[in-house]
Amino acid sequence: MHRKLPKEIDPLRLAQNGLKFDGQLLLSDMPRLAKSLHSDSGLVNVVLAFDIDEIGTPYVKGEFTVPVSIVCERCMLPMSMELSVSCLLAMVVSEKFIDKLAEQYDPWLLENSDPISLSKVVEDELILVLPLVPRHTEACLPSEAWSAMSDNSDYNEDEGDEKPVSPFAILSSLKKQ
Ligand SMILES: [Zn+2]
Repeated sequence: MHRKLPKEIDPLRLAQNGLKFDGQLLLSDMPRLAKSLHSDSGLVNVVLAFDIDEIGTPYVKGEFTVPVSIVCERCMLPMSMELSVSCLLAMVVSEKFIDKLAEQYDPWLLENSDPISLSKVVEDELILVLPLVPRHTEACLPSEAWSAMSDNSDYNEDEGDEKPVSPFAILSSLKKQ
């Protein structure tokens, strides 16, 4: 059975109880993610399944998706895209256990038993899948703009009578001397 998303969680207890959650979080509650976006309005879809595996490792399987608006670095206009993450996090209470985790897991270090903000956990995972250089997949600037730019750069290089000189031309002129 799926429950509504809690604001704060105690991940170890949720794993012990094998609880599943399904719901939405506000993008505006994720300021570190939102500062890379054009707008912080929107909802993050969140599905979480907490459990303990056969060798006793507490873990959570998460699926997070959110439609966002992000500025294209080529044309500087906002574009729509979807951020989507699937994660499998194993809870560890100390860094020394990280090496011992089965390799399908990413570590989730719980330094104390304080309640954890669910928004922060989801935000951390979504930040990891932000595109490094967001760009429209199609040619978003008109092709005339591109060819005008490359014509200009050719023109600048040709300015001042200098033609590209091949190394062989230099060699043969040296031989002549
Ligand atoms: Zn663009």
